[in-house]
Amino acid sequence: MLKGIPASGGIAIGRALVIAEAELDIDTGRVENVQREVQRFHTAVETAKEQLRSLQKKTEKSLGNEQAMLFAAHFLMLDDPEMIEAVVHKIESEGIRAEYALQQVAHTITEQFNAMDNAYFRERAADVKDIAKRLHQILLGEEESSFSNITEPCILVTGDLAPSDTAQLDQKCILGIVTDIGGGTSHTAILAQSYEIPAVMGTAYATKTIANGDLVIIDADKGEVLVTPSPEVLDDYFKKQAQLLEEKKDFDRYKDGPSLTHDGKTVELAANIGSPGDLQRVMDNGAEGIGLFRTEFLYMDRQALPSEEDQFLVYKQVLETMQGKPVVIRTLDIGGDKKLDYLPIPDEMNPFLGYRAIRLSLDRKDLFQTQIRALLRASTYGNLKIMFPMIANLQELRAAKQVVADMRAELQSEDVPTADEVEIGMMIEVPAAAVISDLFAREVDFFSIGTNDLIQYTIAVDRMNEKISHLYEPFHPAVLRLIKTVIDNGHKGGIWVGMCGEMAADPRVIPLLIGMGLDEFSMSSPSIPKARKVIGGVGFEKMRQIAEAVLQMGSADEIKSYLASAY
Ligand code: PEP
Ligand code: MG
Repeated sequence: MLKGIPASGGIAIGRALVIAEAELDIDTGRVENVQREVQRFHTAVETAKEQLRSLQKKTEKSLGNEQAMLFAAHFLMLDDPEMIEAVVHKIESEGIRAEYALQQVAHTITEQFNAMDNAYFRERAADVKDIAKRLHQILLGEEESSFSNITEPCILVTGDLAPSDTAQLDQKCILGIVTDIGGGTSHTAILAQSYEIPAVMGTAYATKTIANGDLVIIDADKGEVLVTPSPEVLDDYFKKQAQLLEEKKDFDRYKDGPSLTHDGKTVELAANIGSPGDLQRVMDNGAEGIGLFRTEFLYMDRQALPSEEDQFLVYKQVLETMQGKPVVIRTLDIGGDKKLDYLPIPDEMNPFLGYRAIRLSLDRKDLFQTQIRALLRASTYGNLKIMFPMIANLQELRAAKQVVADMRAELQSEDVPTADEVEIGMMIEVPAAAVISDLFAREVDFFSIGTNDLIQYTIAVDRMNEKISHLYEPFHPAVLRLIKTVIDNGHKGGIWVGMCGEMAADPRVIPLLIGMGLDEFSMSSPSIPKARKVIGGVGFEKMRQIAEAVLQMGSADEIKSYLASAY
């Protein structure tokens, strides 16, 4: 049995498909424009150098100078005519794609090194392979990863799964996911939840322990992975799976809104989505709106930035489908664990504290303006609310709002209609924003608390790091007090306050949050019926008393054990 982090609940039983490393799928056809292909290769070499430079820096800090020197060989190779010019020559003389030329050249060189009876040269062969792999990954982008070619039902076992890999998976074929690394609120985990795929992440050894074709059981609620179980255990799990299905049927009775506490107070249950492909589940589970559309997924799984028209059509479709119900669309939140191949962000020491979300949008105004124009154009098709991610200070908010005002004026001057009223809100996911939420409340129409990030920043616990995942604690009194501050400041400023982090879907915490005054909850669609059932089971007055008691408590353990018997 392997232990990992519960990332997306449920039980999955099936045969393992182990993808330890993405396989290269290389196009051997001819190119039309040879010079452009050569240029593409040179750009990839430059990107590789950039990646190596930051990798070297990182290694220097963590492991010291000597280890970092290992990269020197890679650098040399990227300037080595034997390799680089040979690839260019091959592209030019044979008119083939850069990746194919590179594959052949790298193969010839490694064969030569391997044939030498000398350990030093054999190591150089490994270097060539390594650098060729890096270049291939850059040239091919993630679209070509083998994750998109899975066609048989299986339990996917892999080292790491980037959100863009997950977004490419054929959901019907993936019974469950097991990874070596990754945390419970990584975007891969979030995607797995919205696809209702049980997932256990951060097992450390899955790809080494599990073989292709092994029978595997994932007990995702416990974070356990059982490999080649006995017939008795298997039988047991088939029964548990059937039981879960029954439970789900019970929750299905709560598919239709409104969402009322036992004594009749209404809250709103909305859905988190990543693409229009999620809309069917939104409708099926009775969401009362969309509380978070993570638009960055629109930018993934493609070769270039989506145009204004591409985006407009998607936003319009979402707004029309929701038929006047609120739709909160969040502007691009790229960076952190979400990457775009065609928009390379140099490796950073702390990507979650780095160049991401609104910081990137305000730096790349061209991208931001295109998105805002598309949103405003779509605004006439429904009840659109625009939300900015990762706001940390008033200047950022004001600059972002200015772009909205500018784009609105620009569209007006082009006689393009936009809705008169578009609410503008912000995520509260940086503690600094929570602390001065009274000031923000004067300048926005709503808050949505992003607990996934708020927790990691408040407690200084990386949401992706499985080694410290036990410290990632939604019930930390500091987190709960910050949430309470935000709700109170929002209400004092006359605006509504929602939550769209994973915490909003936790049945243990939902009544507590209502007691604290939260107005809206946004979660993966499949979590909605159960949340609605939980809400109906407790009265508001009791929730309020519970909140009051919890906010006086000093530790997460105390709070959790109190809540376990409070409702
Ligand atoms: C959050 O941080 O809670 C959030 C909803 O945003 P994301 O998970 O996309 O970072
Ligand atoms: Mg966030």
